[in-house]
Amino acid sequence: MILVLQKDTTSADRNELIKRLEFMGLKAVPSDNGGQPAVAIISGIDEKTKPELFRSLAFVEKVVQLNQQIKLAGKEIKKGRTIVDVKGIRIGGDSLVIMAGPCAIESKESIFEIAEAVASAGASVLRGGAFKPRTSPYDFQGLGEEGLKYLAEAAQKYGLLTISEVMDIEQADIVAEYIDILQIGARNMQNFSLLKAVGKIRKPVMLKRGFSSTYKDLLMAAEYILSEGNHEVMLCERGVRTFETYTRNMLDIAAVPALKQLSHLPVIVDPSHGTGLRSLVVPMSMAAAAAGADGLIVEVHTNPDKAFSDAKQTIDVETFRSLVRFVAAIKNTISYEL
Ligand code: PEP
Ligand code: MN
Repeated sequence: MILVLQKDTTSADRNELIKRLEFMGLKAVPSDNGGQPAVAIISGIDEKTKPELFRSLAFVEKVVQLNQQIKLAGKEIKKGRTIVDVKGIRIGGDSLVIMAGPCAIESKESIFEIAEAVASAGASVLRGGAFKPRTSPYDFQGLGEEGLKYLAEAAQKYGLLTISEVMDIEQADIVAEYIDILQIGARNMQNFSLLKAVGKIRKPVMLKRGFSSTYKDLLMAAEYILSEGNHEVMLCERGVRTFETYTRNMLDIAAVPALKQLSHLPVIVDPSHGTGLRSLVVPMSMAAAAAGADGLIVEVHTNPDKAFSDAKQTIDVETFRSLVRFVAAIKNTISYEL
């Protein structure tokens, strides 16, 4: 249920109202309804709760009933799209934001070299894992906090933002200290305590779709972050497991328009994990741009064959330059509202 408030309601008035609702045993969070202040009641009510109960409360202009389970991530609650503004880079707006870098941060020298290359090619965000979710415990696990420092320093030098994965609750504050966007990986999409923890941190979060999760599962996972009061959430399509063995995962391009029809949150596409093959990264990036993606996250390395992890899906800098040019051409040619 959304309580749309009178236009001149102050944040203090809204907080008072939230307290009052909490006193009534409900969970409510601040929201906005096409620029008008609002309060979303996200738990404690059921189908039998009458809207009249809230109409007489101070500042309430109208009451809108939400029909779906997807409340804060859904379209009913918000007119228009969410734009996640990360230090002036607007994700979910008119431009397509490109995040690029190695799978894992490998050394200080290599991350500086890659940062310089991707920045000059047109990326705005530097990616790189410091805490790596590896299938085998014997594989390179990442440089940890030291890696985060290198990522932040390299990004700062070349005018980039940063994104890096948080694998568990204990790492959340450390990653948030150095990094601009917190990444929740596919393996953790339904790690609900981790989702709640990043929901409490006031930093943008990119939530990757689980290997075998439906759109609804993904949106419900986003709901966990949003309901803790963190509204800066982006969804990421990174491919799902199917019967196909040629590719590592099957990149679901339909997820882009589908998620944008179901939700106001920005949608990012990962063509690297989404295919597992470097020869497919450029064509799938173009497909994602044509389908309306708000951003791409791509694995790029100055020496891809020597990458410590995911070498087969990592592209070189020249290929990345072409990718940026092609997706920009597509984005400039076709643009439509989803
Ligand atoms: C990553 O982007 O570094 C990663 C591990 O991806 P995913 O969680 O999608 O497998
Ligand atoms: Mn990887």
